[in-house]
Amino acid sequence: ATPMALMVGTGRGAQMGILIKGPEVLESTRRVDTIVLDKTGTVTTGAHALVSVTAADGEDEARLLRLAGAVEDASEHPIARAIAAGARERVGDLPDVRGFRNTEGLGVSGRVGAERTDGNRDDDNRDDDEVVVVGRPALLAERDMPLPAELERAIDEASERGQTAVAVGWGGRARGVLVVADQIKDTSAEAIRRFRGLGLTPVLLTGDNARVAASVAAQVGIEPGPDTVISETVIAEVLPADKVEVIRRLQSEGRVVAMVGDGVNDAAALATADLGLAIGTGTDAAIEASDLTLVRGDLRAAADAIRLSRRTLGTIK
Ligand code: ADP
Ligand code: MG
Repeated sequence: ATPMALMVGTGRGAQMGILIKGPEVLESTRRVDTIVLDKTGTVTTGAHALVSVTAADGEDEARLLRLAGAVEDASEHPIARAIAAGARERVGDLPDVRGFRNTEGLGVSGRVGAERTDGNRDDDNRDDDEVVVVGRPALLAERDMPLPAELERAIDEASERGQTAVAVGWGGRARGVLVVADQIKDTSAEAIRRFRGLGLTPVLLTGDNARVAASVAAQVGIEPGPDTVISETVIAEVLPADKVEVIRRLQSEGRVVAMVGDGVNDAAALATADLGLAIGTGTDAAIEASDLTLVRGDLRAAADAIRLSRRTLGTIK
């Protein structure tokens, strides 16, 4: 490729809202045959909202929201922001949390002072504080907090709709389910049609639940395989650290892999992929790890970038 043609291609990319780290990037872009898409913030807007609250039988909904909201208020995760904001809207000020812990890709926990009927909290007496766990149902199961049937049902219903259900528990029991919804970008389905038109295989990759992933995939035109956890095209329940392994596995099958992501949890996978594309509205970590940045966060620009590189390099052979 002549430097001139590559520079022209790079300039044309900038006009299309695609920032290219260096002209040599166009070379690897041309050979890509598989495009891995992170779900949250990439295929979806990532702007979550709390849409429903289910308290387990005998539990108080306001208390559920207060405790879950307090713990999530210490987290930067988009799901956590939605839960803290939704809880505050419904029950007002949230109590303080101590001993906050984040379990990457699974959820959070922390101690929230036990409530007193007189409205005062005794900060010296922390023995009756509850360790509140908020996150994937699997995280609660791991902490020996089984889900009663009514909560299982709430999770099933949310998953069918493609919404994420977050479980809340303390004191050895799951106490409720909070459902957060995120919207599929209205450009995602069109982008996926364009990827196919370029002969690329789209793959959805997410840390979220397999049923949520399958529902989102179906809505944007990615066919789920027979096994929705690890299929050819929908790969769900992948911990942040394991996203890299998924990319390596696809590469070991002989594919040339592009990956599009927005999160800190995508950075290593973006760097490992043959071509990393960051959503420009996402995190700095994702942008730094990537070869290309889609300035407007519109997935159709990823198809434009691949078409552009093929055309740019095609003119010079
Ligand atoms: P993605 O791969 O879709 O960008 P993450 O890897 O960040 O998602 O998270 C995977 C899943 O872990 C989420 O869908 C959610 O169920 C759970 N999770 C992670 N962090 C939190 C949190 N702070 N509160 C509740 N759930 C969480
Ligand atoms: Mg993401």
